[in-house]
Amino acid sequence: MMARKNHKDKMEAKARSIRRKRAFVVAGAAAAVHYLCLVATATCGVLFMLHPRIDTVLALIGSLGLAVASWIVGYFKRRAALCPLCNGTPLLASGALPHVKAVWIPPFNHGVSAVLSMIFTQRFTCMYCGCRFDLLKDSNRRPQADD
Ligand SMILES: [Zn+2]
Repeated sequence: MMARKNHKDKMEAKARSIRRKRAFVVAGAAAAVHYLCLVATATCGVLFMLHPRIDTVLALIGSLGLAVASWIVGYFKRRAALCPLCNGTPLLASGALPHVKAVWIPPFNHGVSAVLSMIFTQRFTCMYCGCRFDLLKDSNRRPQADD
């Protein structure tokens, strides 16, 4: 138990800050909007199955349109968020061989896992260089001896 806590503390300490956070914040917000649109589409799909009427069809078509539009916007925003170390796209899986330290949440790929991790914990791991980043860490802070 103690060794596990020490390992976790070490992982926390290794998380780096990001100087230009804006691209990551915008990409995370766009991805969150897309995921909410997917939930809306699934809800409208269930409503359509239960009550196949013209208003539920219109709601389903509208939510599908929003889901597609938000995916297109989110794709370009995730592509614009570049890793400060390796200049890769950690929020968008390219199919390249991931780093041995890269983490992912099955059944999602590395890009979606990084986006979900960023939305819920403000931290993510770059799948190309294996470096861990923390959006809440102050990038202007001077490095301490224990960093
Ligand atoms: Zn990287």
